[in-house]
Amino acid sequence: MYRLLCPNALVESLFDIDFEQLKNQGIKGIIFDLDNTIIPWDSSDMCPTICAWLEQVAAQGFKISIVSNNWHKRVRKIAQRLDVPFVARAYKPAKNGFRRALSVMSLGANEAAVVGDQLFTDVLGGNRLGLCTIWVKPLNPQEFVGTKIQRYMERWAVKLLRAKGLMR
Ligand SMILES: [Mg+2]
Repeated sequence: MYRLLCPNALVESLFDIDFEQLKNQGIKGIIFDLDNTIIPWDSSDMCPTICAWLEQVAAQGFKISIVSNNWHKRVRKIAQRLDVPFVARAYKPAKNGFRRALSVMSLGANEAAVVGDQLFTDVLGGNRLGLCTIWVKPLNPQEFVGTKIQRYMERWAVKLLRAKGLMR
């Protein structure tokens, strides 16, 4: 059970993700969370640096998709700008949104990684499906109140995982 909360990797920022290593692991596609992973949660537009970075990721041969718990319209706008497939209102940690993204990318669970800022949605959901999970620090420290409560629970979970020797 605790292992389901353990990310395969923990990074300070998107730019710290080691794509060479992912390639060597057989990863061919990346499923990104939207809010506070590739866009600040209260923002309606993407930072050009992250846009350019995502283009570079795609240029390295990775398929890209977005799976978000946020509303359709907001997710669609960003996904269309990036020209990538998306699943909105995914109800992560439910598996279904990730499954749909895998199917659109024509990849198996062992061929994709999930990148997200939340332990209880992105990491837990990805691990439930056996995806490689990468936990990234949130872009914007200001967050939706529901997320703040989750952050409190995340700190508690990290303490527990560390005490059990499951996380560094
Ligand atoms: Mg998020």
